[in-house]
Amino acid sequence: ATPISIMVGVGKAAEYGILIRNGEALQQAGKLTTVVLDKTGTITEGRPAVTALVPAAGWDETKLLTVAASIETGSEHPLAEAIVAAAKEKQIKVSPANDFQAIAGHGVSATVDGKKVLFGNARLMAQHRIELGDLAARAGELAARAQTPMFLAMDGKAAGIVAVADPIKPDSKAAIARLHANGIKVAMITGDNRATAEAVAREVGVDEVLAEVLPGDKADQVAALQQRGGIVGMVGDGINDAPALAQADVGFAIGTGTDIAIESADVALMRGSLHGVADAIAISRATVRNIK
Ligand code: ADP
Ligand code: MG
Repeated sequence: ATPISIMVGVGKAAEYGILIRNGEALQQAGKLTTVVLDKTGTITEGRPAVTALVPAAGWDETKLLTVAASIETGSEHPLAEAIVAAAKEKQIKVSPANDFQAIAGHGVSATVDGKKVLFGNARLMAQHRIELGDLAARAGELAARAQTPMFLAMDGKAAGIVAVADPIKPDSKAAIARLHANGIKVAMITGDNRATAEAVAREVGVDEVLAEVLPGDKADQVAALQQRGGIVGMVGDGINDAPALAQADVGFAIGTGTDIAIESADVALMRGSLHGVADAIAISRATVRNIK
């Protein structure tokens, strides 16, 4: 590869809002066989909003949202922001939460009004042997519609579901189709539950779904695809995604990603669109063709 042609390619990419950190990444991008996309903030907008409140017997919507927002006030997770915003909109006054704990990939726990509260996914509920009863089927219905259901439990009993939905970016589907047209396999990776992940994947045409992946395991999943012989690109935006971006043959940080994601990436997609991945691949292939 001549330094001049690489400089030209890097310059061309910059016109598309694609910042390439090194010549090696530019040359590798055109060789990718598999691209792994993080779900939240990459395929979707990363701006979840509350879409459903399903109180258990003896609970009502306001009480459910009040306790959920009280515990989430201590969390920095995007899901927590959605719940706190919904409570604020309804002018709900939250209660103080003590002993707050974030449980990565599961949810949160705290003491609210002297009662032990858990809020998170089915895996968190199973770990604490919370009986979900009818709520399990309701959660399944919400997940099938691409919503993320979270369960609230108080003093060991299920209190209801708060569901959120995160809109899919308008151009994700078209950008994924472009990757397919270039012979690239597209996988989606997420900590979210399988049913929700599958519903999102169907809407955008992803080939393989890696769901319920714990934050610390995303890089291992990328490594497993590499061991299967793939040259793997990874696209993500979050702190969670940094090790997977570093593990990938080409790591892409997307949009208004966190500084940590951008630092761990070979390529930054400043326009926040997945079209940037297909553009980077096209520019890479054109650059490498010119070199030969
Ligand atoms: P991702 O980055 O893909 O969203 P996470 O590992 O952060 O995955 O979260 C996985 C799942 O754990 C979420 O879909 C949610 O069900 C649950 N969870 C994580 N953090 C919270 C939280 N603060 N409140 C409620 N649920 C949470
Ligand atoms: Mg994420």
